[in-house]
Order: sequence, then structure tokens, then C-alpha cells
Amino acid sequence: MGDRAASWPINRHPGGAPSLPESWATSMAAPLSALRASMLPSWPDCPRRGAAKQWRRDINASGYHLRESRSSVGAAVGTAVHAAAAHFLPIWTEPGAVSAAVEVAVLSFRADSAQGMVWDKNNIATPNIAEFQIRRMVAVYAEHVAPHVQPALVEQALQVSIGGGFWLSGHADIIVTGTRVVRDLKTGAQMRSYQAQLGGYSLLVRSQPEPIDVAGVAVDFIRRTPKTKPQNMPVSEALNLDVAERTAWSVIGHIKAAVTEFRRRLVCGIEPPEEAFLANPMSQMCHADYCPAHGIDFCPLGRHP
Ligand code: SF4
Repeated sequence: MGDRAASWPINRHPGGAPSLPESWATSMAAPLSALRASMLPSWPDCPRRGAAKQWRRDINASGYHLRESRSSVGAAVGTAVHAAAAHFLPIWTEPGAVSAAVEVAVLSFRADSAQGMVWDKNNIATPNIAEFQIRRMVAVYAEHVAPHVQPALVEQALQVSIGGGFWLSGHADIIVTGTRVVRDLKTGAQMRSYQAQLGGYSLLVRSQPEPIDVAGVAVDFIRRTPKTKPQNMPVSEALNLDVAERTAWSVIGHIKAAVTEFRRRLVCGIEPPEEAFLANPMSQMCHADYCPAHGIDFCPLGRHP
């Protein structure tokens, strides 16, 4: 514990309470202070994994030894389709726009795959299958989603102070003009619940120096269908804006409380600091492929595969 406390960049206080550098209240670079809207939906599934993924460098600086995490092939496919959508929307009426978007997606996937990733031997076992899925997902996006949106902002980087020296950031996919709906494109084998993330985007958009009024939040979902089956049509779902924003605030409150307790334990020498973050070894993602804390000192709970 001595090493952890000594290496942690918080001013130690004689009374045992953490004394944070004043700059932490105004800097997104302060350790464990930057939250992303995209981390909010999965945080309750295992807060300790969420912390390990979001603040790996800061946590290692406090004396732990988290592994680098690798992206999953499903996430890389999703990133590629996102890249295609962002490229396609401004040029969607031009000849060759779909081919250009597919090209962007494939290049994105190949760049990610060159970094190394976790493959899915049952559904996306090879790069050819991934690129086949990417091509047809981009095609249905171009044909069935893009014509119905008039984007005001696409992949706009936003950030806002959320109090106590914490910051929230995110890339809201699209804000549709006229209807003032924040839309997010999602892909995957199955639709999941994204209220907290969309609520986070809405809070970000409404909190800018020149706030944009938000009337709703919605998800455009494109299923990653197995290669042997026909591609499903996209599904668009409007979410309850109030519920989404409340859910985002609730998760943000839990994250801030856990981080504050983690810092307090480090500064005061209370063992074990990592237990400030609740851990859920029942999570489906409790596996060395998905959690940088699995089998490492930050979490002794994960079962070895
Ligand atoms: S090893 Fe399992 S319980 Fe521990 S942080 Fe990772 S996912 Fe959570």
C-alpha cells in the first residue's frame, strides 16, 4: 500500500482527508476525472471493469498493473460502419457516395484489425466475413437511414464540467435539424439499452456555451446479421428523453462517488482501494478478453477461462 499512496498524485493531508490539487477542478487531464457518455450504459454491469477500461493509465499510476485491452471484432465492425455513416451523410446525394463510404469503412476496419483484436469464432471468424458484414450494413444505412435525417452536427466532440472536478465528454452522432433529435447509430448482434448514453449526449448538447434545445433522443440500430442470413433492415427507436437524462445523471453520480472513495482510500492508506469500485464477476463480460483487470491485482474476482 505504501507504494500506491506514494505514487498517487494527490496531496496528502495531515488529517487523512484527500487534498486535491486546485487544477483538478478545471482540467480534464486530472486523474480519473474524465467520463465518457459511451461508458455510462455498461458501468452498472461491472463498475470495476468500467474504471479499468476508462482510466487504465491513471490506475496503473497508482500502483496497479492493468493489461492493455484489445478491441473486439464486433466493436471494430461498429466503428467502421460509424466511419462510413459520418463520411456518407454530407455527400449522400452524390454519385458513388455509397462506394466511397464502404471504402472508408473497410479502411477503418483494416486499421483497427492491424492493432490486434479479439475475434468471434462463432460469428466473425475472419476478416472476409467482417468486411462482408460491413459492406451490407453500410448499404442498408445508406438506403434506409441516411435519407431520413438532415444532420446539423455529425460526430461532434462535446465536453462539459459536471461538478466536483469531473468532466463528461462524448461524440453525439447526429442532431437532426427541425425535430431537434439527438440520434446515435448502433450496430451489434442484438439491440441493447442505450438510455444512459443517449441521455449523456442530450445533457452534453444542452450544456454547450450556445445550447441546442433537445426535443428527443433516438437510436438507429443495424443488426450484424450472420453471413449465411439476409441482412436485417435497420430499426429506429425513440427513447424517453427524461428517463434517458435521469439515467445518465444517476450513473454519473455513482461513478463520481466511487472515484471519490477510491481517491480517499489511496490517500488515507485504506486497503484495498480497488474495492471502492463494485465488481460483478457474474457479468457476461467477466473474461480476460474483455476486462483489463481480469486476473490482475485490481480484481481478484474474475474466474480464469
Ligand atoms: S475480472 Fe470480472 S469482476 Fe473483476 S473487474 Fe473484470 S469483469 Fe469485473
